[in-house]
Amino acid sequence: MPENLYELDSPTYRMAVAQFEEAAECMNLDPNLRERFKVPRRALVVSIPIRMDNGRVKVFQGYRVQHDDSLGPTKGGIRYHPSVTLGEVAALAMWMTWKCALVGLPYGGAKGGVRCNPADLSKNELQRLTRRYTAEILPLIGPEMDVPAPDVGTNAQTMAWMMDTYSMQKGYSVPGVVTGKPIPIGGSLGREEATGRGVVYTVLEAMKHLKLDPSKATAVVQGFGNVGSHAARILSENGMKVLAVSDSKGGIHSPKGLNLPRLLEHYAAHHSFAGFPDISPITNAELLEMPCTVLVPAALSEVITEKNADRIQCRILAEGANGPTTPTADKILTDRGVFIIPDILANAGGVTVSYFEWVQDLQQYFWKEKEIHEKLYDILTSAFQRVLALSQKKKVGMRLAAQMHGIEKIAQAHLARGLYP
Ligand code: NAD
Repeated sequence: MPENLYELDSPTYRMAVAQFEEAAECMNLDPNLRERFKVPRRALVVSIPIRMDNGRVKVFQGYRVQHDDSLGPTKGGIRYHPSVTLGEVAALAMWMTWKCALVGLPYGGAKGGVRCNPADLSKNELQRLTRRYTAEILPLIGPEMDVPAPDVGTNAQTMAWMMDTYSMQKGYSVPGVVTGKPIPIGGSLGREEATGRGVVYTVLEAMKHLKLDPSKATAVVQGFGNVGSHAARILSENGMKVLAVSDSKGGIHSPKGLNLPRLLEHYAAHHSFAGFPDISPITNAELLEMPCTVLVPAALSEVITEKNADRIQCRILAEGANGPTTPTADKILTDRGVFIIPDILANAGGVTVSYFEWVQDLQQYFWKEKEIHEKLYDILTSAFQRVLALSQKKKVGMRLAAQMHGIEKIAQAHLARGLYP
């Protein structure tokens, strides 16, 4: 029998708990906190009945999980994907807790999701789904309580519908209820590209540490959505040759390096790589195994496992996606000398600029893009240096050091606040 509800359906949850247990052991975490941190504070499961365009009603299942709120409101994206489960959302919420604490944001971790395939839904169906999902989780969200953002399968439009639904219930506009919104309704400059930009800032910091020259480096990116497409572009703007990129249908490869501005234009127009000149097709499995300096998985979790870890040939693995590497694969890669920038550090740029957006919304005072990039750079490079220093001091890998750092901050908050009642 599984120990708790979240384990029932999710290898991702078991993976998040295994990573946590390893860090807890290594840092000698208080056994009472250890029990508490393995499970979320609360989880809501909702049914979302939607009238489809053909007149029939279809019921979708949705979730919102809040892992820990000891530092402030909880924060985390909303995922629309056919494989979303309660356990997966709980795992992602736990990672959000460590991530926010690691980079020093006054937030706890949360995540939400609806099990659906957004590609099969019309824009009107997506709008009805989003509004009803928002109405169902409304008692749990709010600028002081829990602030959603985009994740896989959702975007600025989804956030606009969520903000509008919440605001209509309140009777006045509440921009701070979600982040990742369109600019005209309180979105932040720099938010859309923030996760990809943050990945690149951490890669550049790793290169300095490893004494690698970006202008001689090559990069490969899996996933060409929000995180992957911006990461690929900004890697190339920093002088790296991007050899290959992919989406769920497969990838493309060019030994000369892809022309990212042209590729982004082509992809925006066609929603596909098909027809792009001077490239050869490549599968997602082949792409991960290409020799390169930097590999950025920026799609789904558990793509690097014990089955392919031996064949991964990068020098730096920068985890744009959440949970792309299983614990067994992590050990294999670490033994082989791959420098890993773990997800909770590499992709923390998204939640960092979401935090900037929330602060701007609450103050109703908006910042310039240059200021956003600079503040993001400061936060991520100092988090990178803290993790690197801890990993050297404790002689552990970057993932374990990042987890320990985040967990320690949450542990201090719990010990200071004490156990209610
Ligand atoms: P997205 O929906 O914008 O893009 C996902 C991309 O992955 C798409 O290109 C899709 O075609 C591709 N993909 C889907 N299934 C695939 C498969 N089986 N093989 C290869 N590619 C596949 O999502 P996103 O917001 O870019 O998120 C990507 C990852 O980054 C997720 O793990 C997410 O949790 C993480 N992340 C996102 C943010 C953010 O701000 N959006 C922040 C932190 C972490």
